[in-house]
Amino acid sequence: MKLSKILVANRGEIALRVMRSAREMGIATVAVYSEADRQALHVRYADEAVCIGPAPSGQSYLRGDKIIEACRQTGAEAIHPGYGFLSENAAFAREVSQAGLIFIGPSPESIQTMGSKLAAKAAAAQYNIPMVPGSAQAITDVSAAKSICRTIGYPVLIKASAGGGGKGMRVVERESEFEEQMQRAVSEAVSAFGDGSVFIEKYITSPKHIEIQVLGDQLGNIVHLFERECSIQRRHQKVVEEAPSSVLTPQIREAMGRSAVDVARACGYYGAGTVEFIVDEGLNYYFLEMNTRLQVEHPVTELITGVDLVKEQIRIAQGETLAFRQEDLQIRGHAIESRVYAEDPQNGFLPDIGRLQTYIRPQGPGIRVDDGFEQGMDIPIYYDPMIAKLVTYGQTRTDAINRMKRAIEEYQITGVETTLPFCHFVMQHEAFLSGQFDTHFVSRYFTPGLLQKAAEPLEAAIAAALIAMLHEGHQKPEQEITQSARSVSRWRERR
Ligand code: ADP
Repeated sequence: MKLSKILVANRGEIALRVMRSAREMGIATVAVYSEADRQALHVRYADEAVCIGPAPSGQSYLRGDKIIEACRQTGAEAIHPGYGFLSENAAFAREVSQAGLIFIGPSPESIQTMGSKLAAKAAAAQYNIPMVPGSAQAITDVSAAKSICRTIGYPVLIKASAGGGGKGMRVVERESEFEEQMQRAVSEAVSAFGDGSVFIEKYITSPKHIEIQVLGDQLGNIVHLFERECSIQRRHQKVVEEAPSSVLTPQIREAMGRSAVDVARACGYYGAGTVEFIVDEGLNYYFLEMNTRLQVEHPVTELITGVDLVKEQIRIAQGETLAFRQEDLQIRGHAIESRVYAEDPQNGFLPDIGRLQTYIRPQGPGIRVDDGFEQGMDIPIYYDPMIAKLVTYGQTRTDAINRMKRAIEEYQITGVETTLPFCHFVMQHEAFLSGQFDTHFVSRYFTPGLLQKAAEPLEAAIAAALIAMLHEGHQKPEQEITQSARSVSRWRERR
C-alpha cells in the first residue's frame, strides 16, 4: 500500500529530516507540536500541523492518544516516531495499529523484546552471538550475585535491564562496594524506568562502542549497512560518531554484520534498527543491546552507503521488499558526525539553554547539517538540548576530518555554549587521528583548559555578532554593540 500522508510524532531536527524524505517521495506530512514549539521549523515545514498540548513532553509529545487523534483529524495513514519520545514504546506501536494506522517501525513484539536488555540477550542467545560475561537474569540475591562477580572478576558493571540513555549503570571495583552499588542501581532503575531489574556484566576496561545498522523488510529479508564507531562519549552518551570504524578488519566487520543480522532475526525484526556492540582491545566484540528505531547518528551510514534510511523505513512500512541484497551494499568514503548540543564543555557538559543570538551554518562540499533552529530562536528547556548534527563526508577519513575542522570553524553560534569546540578538539587529538581511542576519551584526554587553543580570534566572533544584528535589522547604538559582543560565546572570550 502506497502511503499518501504521514504524521511525524516528533520535533526538531529529526521531524524535519523525516519530512524531507517523505516530501521527496511525494508523501504529504503532518507535524504535531507542543505550545512551546508553535514557531518551530518542523511546524512550518509540514503541510499541516496540529497542536497536541502544553510544553512538557508528558503533556504533548508523549501523548499517544492525542497523536492518534491528530491522524484522524488530518487523514494521516501512518506515524513516523523519529527517535526518543514514543519511538520505542511497544504499547504505543500497538495502539497505532489497533487504530487502523501504520507504525513506521518494527512490530510491537520486537520493540518489547529488545526494550529489555535481558530479554534481548535471551533472544540473541539462540544464535551464538558473543555476549559480555555476566548474569543472564536479573539479580535479586546479593550473595548469588557476588559469586557471579567472583567468577567473572572485578570490575563489574551493574545495569538496569530497562535502561537507556546511559542511565542506571554502576561500575563496581571490588566486592566490598557491591551491595551498596546494587541497592543504588535498583533504586535508580525504579525511579528512571519503573522497573528495578538489574543485572551484571563484566566491565570492559578499554572498550569501543561500535554498532551495526540493519534493515529488514516484512518478508524476512534482513541486511546490515556496516558499522558506526560511537566511542567518543560523555556521560555514556555519544558526541562524535563516524563510519566506517578505522580499526575493524574486513573479517571482523563481516562477522559483526552477520551477528547483527542474527540478532535482528532473533526477534523477527523489520524496519531500521541498530545492534550495539562493545569491542575490547583485542577486537573481540560483544552484543550490548538493540535499538529498535532510527538512531541520531544514522546520517553517517547514509553518506557512506548512499541509502536514505528514512525512505527505506517508509518503503518497508508500505510492505515493499528490500530493493537490495547484502552483496549490493558497499562502503564508499568516510563520514563523521559531530553532535552540536547546547552544553558547556568547559563546565562538565552541563546544558546551557538560551537564545541563538548568532546562528550561521557552515556550507560547501561534503557538509550536511540536520538542525531544527534558526537564528534568534530559543532552545526550549523542556527537551533534549541538541541544536544540530553536523556531518561531513570525504573520500578518506583524513578528508572527512579536515572537512569537519573547517565546518566547525565556519559554524557561528553565539548566545549559548555548544559542544562544537569540544568536537574541534577531538578532530585534532592524536588518539582520535590514530583511531586508538575508547569510550574513556573524555576522562582520559579532555580538560576544559585545552579548548582555548581551538578558539577563534575574538574579533571574528565580534564581527559575526555584528553581522547577526544587522541581519536581524536592529542596528543598535555603539554602546549596545559592545555589550552584545560580550555576549558572544564565552568560550571564545576566554582565550
Ligand atoms: P544505554 O542503553 O543506557 O545507552 P548501553 O548498554 O547501550 O546503555 O551502554 C551505553 C554505554 O555504556 C556504552 O556505549 C559503553 O560506553 C558503556 N558500557 C556498556 N556496557 C559496558 C561494559 N560491559 N563494559 C564497559 N562499558 C560498557
